[in-house]
Amino acid sequence: MTLEEQLKESPRLKRWYEEFHSSLASIASVGFGNLVPGWPDTKFSELSHDAYLEHCRGLLDDALNETEDGKDAVVSITLPTFKEWKDKLKEGELQDRDNLGFIHSGCELCGALAGNRHAVTALPDDPSTNSDYYTYEVCDDCLAFIANGDLPNLD
Ligand SMILES: [Zn+2]
Repeated sequence: MTLEEQLKESPRLKRWYEEFHSSLASIASVGFGNLVPGWPDTKFSELSHDAYLEHCRGLLDDALNETEDGKDAVVSITLPTFKEWKDKLKEGELQDRDNLGFIHSGCELCGALAGNRHAVTALPDDPSTNSDYYTYEVCDDCLAFIANGDLPNLD
């Protein structure tokens, strides 16, 4: 079935499709038409440079605490690089960071009612010359379409 036939057959799908594309058109009109799943690291305070330094201080403290009474402090530990530390967090406790859970406000792209939301970022047309971005909280349907081009099943 073609997209047109699918839209004709399901008024709810048609409404979703129109809402989604009207949001996308207004984002694209200001030059940010590339929607991608997830948010950049900078959106997560858990991944900030301050949090990294705090982690390193903790490692140094632990090492110093092992110094016996009256002995010289000897610290021979290897601190992780900022990137190593971030990668480890992203593979571990922040693995599911782009799943935002239940949110009471409507989907920011299609207007769907309260429900599960996922992080989506609108990138500029040429990310190599422009590092700005916009972030969105979107529903399961919008995420699936952005990620795989899957149309929601709204029947
Ligand atoms: Zn949506």
